[in-house]
Amino acid sequence: MKTKFTTALKRISPHILTSEVSCKCCGRGADKIHPEIIRIFETIREIINRPINITRGYSCLKHQKELISKGYLTSLHSPHRYYTALDCVPPAGISLEEFRDIARDVSKDVRIGWKAYSQHIHIDVAYIKIVKKKPTKAARLSWVEGVEW
Ligand SMILES: [Zn+2]
Repeated sequence: MKTKFTTALKRISPHILTSEVSCKCCGRGADKIHPEIIRIFETIREIINRPINITRGYSCLKHQKELISKGYLTSLHSPHRYYTALDCVPPAGISLEEFRDIARDVSKDVRIGWKAYSQHIHIDVAYIKIVKKKPTKAARLSWVEGVEW
Protein backbone atom coordinates (compact mmCIF):
# COMPACT_ATOMS: atom_id res chain seq x y z
CA MET A 1 0.00 0.00 0.00
CA LYS A 2 1.23 3.46 -0.85
CA THR A 3 1.65 5.86 2.01
CA LYS A 4 2.30 9.58 2.14
CA PHE A 5 5.83 8.80 3.24
CA THR A 6 6.77 6.78 0.16
CA THR A 7 5.05 9.29 -2.11
CA ALA A 8 7.13 12.11 -0.61
CA LEU A 9 10.35 10.26 -1.36
CA LYS A 10 9.63 9.45 -4.99
CA ARG A 11 12.39 10.65 -7.28
CA ILE A 12 12.78 11.47 -10.95
CA SER A 13 16.57 11.04 -10.71
CA PRO A 14 19.07 10.15 -7.95
CA HIS A 15 18.95 13.62 -6.34
CA ILE A 16 15.67 15.14 -7.54
CA LEU A 17 12.51 14.49 -5.56
CA THR A 18 9.25 14.35 -7.51
CA SER A 19 7.75 16.69 -4.91
CA GLU A 20 10.45 19.31 -5.56
CA VAL A 21 9.74 19.63 -9.27
CA SER A 22 5.98 19.11 -9.43
CA CYS A 23 3.80 22.18 -9.98
CA LYS A 24 3.14 23.82 -6.63
CA CYS A 25 -0.56 24.23 -7.35
CA CYS A 26 -1.64 21.05 -9.16
CA GLY A 27 1.20 18.59 -8.54
CA ARG A 28 1.65 17.83 -12.23
CA GLY A 29 4.67 17.83 -14.55
CA ALA A 30 7.48 16.03 -12.68
CA ASP A 31 7.44 13.13 -15.15
CA LYS A 32 8.02 15.51 -18.07
CA ILE A 33 11.08 17.40 -16.79
CA HIS A 34 13.55 17.45 -19.68
CA PRO A 35 16.37 14.85 -19.41
CA GLU A 36 19.06 17.39 -20.33
CA ILE A 37 18.27 19.71 -17.38
CA ILE A 38 18.21 16.61 -15.15
CA ARG A 39 21.63 15.59 -16.51
CA ILE A 40 23.06 19.07 -15.90
CA PHE A 41 21.65 19.18 -12.37
CA GLU A 42 22.95 15.72 -11.47
CA THR A 43 26.42 16.61 -12.79
CA ILE A 44 26.45 19.83 -10.72
CA ARG A 45 25.25 17.80 -7.73
CA GLU A 46 28.07 15.31 -8.22
CA ILE A 47 30.68 18.12 -8.31
CA ILE A 48 29.31 19.95 -5.26
CA ASN A 49 28.69 16.62 -3.51
CA ARG A 50 26.18 18.09 -1.05
CA PRO A 51 22.39 18.42 -1.07
CA ILE A 52 20.96 21.08 -3.40
CA ASN A 53 17.35 22.01 -2.74
CA ILE A 54 15.15 22.63 -5.75
CA THR A 55 12.43 25.20 -5.09
CA ARG A 56 10.73 25.06 -8.48
CA GLY A 57 10.61 22.77 -11.49
CA TYR A 58 7.43 22.62 -13.53
CA SER A 59 4.83 25.37 -13.16
CA CYS A 60 1.51 25.26 -15.02
CA LEU A 61 -0.03 28.36 -16.64
CA LYS A 62 -2.36 28.91 -13.69
CA HIS A 63 0.57 28.86 -11.27
CA GLN A 64 2.60 31.21 -13.48
CA LYS A 65 -0.30 33.66 -13.44
CA GLU A 66 -0.47 33.37 -9.68
CA LEU A 67 3.27 34.06 -9.28
CA ILE A 68 3.03 37.08 -11.57
CA SER A 69 0.05 38.46 -9.64
CA LYS A 70 2.10 38.14 -6.44
CA GLY A 71 4.90 40.19 -7.98
CA TYR A 72 7.43 37.45 -8.64
CA LEU A 73 9.99 38.04 -11.38
CA THR A 74 8.75 35.54 -13.96
CA SER A 75 6.75 35.50 -17.18
CA LEU A 76 3.72 33.72 -18.63
CA HIS A 77 6.01 31.85 -20.99
CA SER A 78 8.60 30.96 -18.38
CA PRO A 79 10.80 27.96 -19.25
CA HIS A 80 9.32 26.43 -16.09
CA ARG A 81 6.10 25.96 -18.05
CA TYR A 82 8.00 23.99 -20.68
CA TYR A 83 9.63 21.49 -18.29
CA THR A 84 13.10 22.84 -18.93
CA ALA A 85 13.95 24.85 -15.79
CA LEU A 86 15.03 24.21 -12.21
CA ASP A 87 15.44 26.78 -9.43
CA CYS A 88 18.25 25.59 -7.17
CA VAL A 89 19.37 26.69 -3.72
CA PRO A 90 23.13 26.17 -3.35
CA PRO A 91 24.20 24.54 -0.07
CA ALA A 92 25.70 26.74 2.66
CA GLY A 93 29.18 27.91 1.70
CA ILE A 94 28.55 27.86 -2.06
CA SER A 95 27.70 31.32 -3.43
CA LEU A 96 25.44 31.91 -6.41
CA GLU A 97 28.54 32.95 -8.37
CA GLU A 98 30.35 29.72 -7.51
CA PHE A 99 27.25 27.71 -8.43
CA ARG A 100 27.05 29.62 -11.73
CA ASP A 101 30.70 28.84 -12.52
CA ILE A 102 30.15 25.14 -11.86
CA ALA A 103 26.97 25.13 -13.99
CA ARG A 104 28.85 26.87 -16.81
CA ASP A 105 31.64 24.27 -16.65
CA VAL A 106 29.06 21.50 -16.86
CA SER A 107 27.29 23.05 -19.87
CA LYS A 108 28.36 25.97 -22.01
CA ASP A 109 24.78 26.12 -23.31
CA VAL A 110 22.72 26.11 -20.11
CA ARG A 111 20.84 29.38 -19.48
CA ILE A 112 21.56 30.76 -16.02
CA GLY A 113 19.60 33.30 -14.00
CA TRP A 114 21.57 34.38 -10.95
CA LYS A 115 21.98 38.18 -10.95
CA ALA A 116 18.26 38.74 -10.63
CA TYR A 117 17.71 36.55 -7.59
CA SER A 118 19.19 36.50 -4.11
CA GLN A 119 18.18 33.09 -2.73
CA HIS A 120 18.35 30.75 -5.70
CA ILE A 121 19.85 30.20 -9.09
CA HIS A 122 17.72 29.37 -12.13
CA ILE A 123 19.04 26.94 -14.75
CA ASP A 124 17.22 25.96 -17.93
CA VAL A 125 17.58 24.39 -21.35
CA ALA A 126 14.64 26.16 -23.00
CA TYR A 127 16.63 26.40 -26.24
CA ILE A 128 16.40 22.61 -26.68
CA LYS A 129 12.75 22.16 -25.93
CA ILE A 130 11.25 24.66 -28.33
CA VAL A 131 13.23 24.44 -31.53
CA LYS A 132 10.78 25.72 -34.08
CA LYS A 133 7.87 26.96 -32.06
CA LYS A 134 9.03 29.40 -29.41
CA PRO A 135 5.95 30.92 -27.84
CA THR A 136 6.68 34.64 -28.06
CA LYS A 137 9.02 37.09 -29.74
CA ALA A 138 10.75 37.63 -26.40
CA ALA A 139 11.33 33.88 -26.12
CA ARG A 140 12.72 33.71 -29.66
CA LEU A 141 15.22 36.39 -28.73
CA SER A 142 16.19 35.14 -25.28
CA TRP A 143 15.84 31.36 -25.40
CA VAL A 144 19.32 30.95 -26.77
CA GLU A 145 22.26 28.99 -25.49
CA GLY A 146 24.52 30.46 -22.84
CA VAL A 147 22.39 33.43 -21.81
CA GLU A 148 22.84 34.76 -18.27
CA TRP A 149 20.78 37.26 -16.37
ZN1 LIG B 1 -0.31 23.89 -11.39
